[in-house]
Amino acid sequence: MSELHKFIFEGLPVRGMLVRLTDSWQEVLRRREKAKDAFPEPVRHLMGEMAAAATLMQANIKFNGALILQIFGDGPVKLAVAEVQPDLAFRATAKVVGELSEDATLKDMLNVHGKGRCAITLDPKDKLPGQQPYQGVVPLHGDHREPLQKLSEVLEHYMLQSEQLDTKLILAANDQVAAGLLIQRLPVEGSGNLGSRNEDEIGVNESYNRIAHLAATLTNEELLTLDADTVLHRLFWEETLRRFEPLVGADGPRFSCSCSRERVGSMLKSLGQDEIDGIVVEQGRVEIACDFCGTKYHFDAVDVGELFTPVNNQAPGSSGLH
Ligand SMILES: [Zn+2]
Repeated sequence: MSELHKFIFEGLPVRGMLVRLTDSWQEVLRRREKAKDAFPEPVRHLMGEMAAAATLMQANIKFNGALILQIFGDGPVKLAVAEVQPDLAFRATAKVVGELSEDATLKDMLNVHGKGRCAITLDPKDKLPGQQPYQGVVPLHGDHREPLQKLSEVLEHYMLQSEQLDTKLILAANDQVAAGLLIQRLPVEGSGNLGSRNEDEIGVNESYNRIAHLAATLTNEELLTLDADTVLHRLFWEETLRRFEPLVGADGPRFSCSCSRERVGSMLKSLGQDEIDGIVVEQGRVEIACDFCGTKYHFDAVDVGELFTPVNNQAPGSSGLH
């Protein structure tokens, strides 16, 4: 079962988290396969890493809303998305145009011309009128314009920029498991520069550096195949870890899609009646499949008519959207 483990290093300003998405991750891929629209292997693995990373990032903040990790690519992968709710329900998808080689790198997929961008959006659940979601954007290259080879490097860069906190991320995915380890230096509250989050500590905290270095020795193979207890023991047996109750099952990471007929209806409405009527005339009905879960929504001429009829003009008993 998919699980998330949180821990702190006793007496040190360092915390960590380990996520393993198993059944939930397989479900994401299975649905796509069922729709006969499976992603190429490198895209599947990128999406798995994104799902693991977004779960870690959501679990790492106290925020009542969705965390949406998106990469906008300038190569064959136009977009890759992982979205995680505060209760750790997640979904992921990608849009691929054209061919990809089996060993395509991050650069080959998303950053062919150096224009790929990674966006992290925090979308509050109860938005105030006019409130915009918070969004941070980082390029897929480092400070010296060197292209970054791994998603983990892109996100470490983002965390340093947005939170001024050193973060080490190890991510790996195959078709069975999507997993990640996050190690982060904690801001030391109430010391010296209030509210500055110890920017002068970036890169120089010895405890953090030692633990991050240990974390970096974890191989993809180990992360994908070993259970959480074994991974943590193997890496940190000389440290004093305080572990918290793992989040599993209904409290843990799991696949869930928030699509609905009502939302698809609003999307169709936003395209305008002429456009939608045109499709109905041509194809008999509108069919929309959710990119995340594969659910198909159909709107025939009657449905479309209701969609564009103001609610108070509808016949009694008609619900507008079914
Ligand atoms: Zn869906």
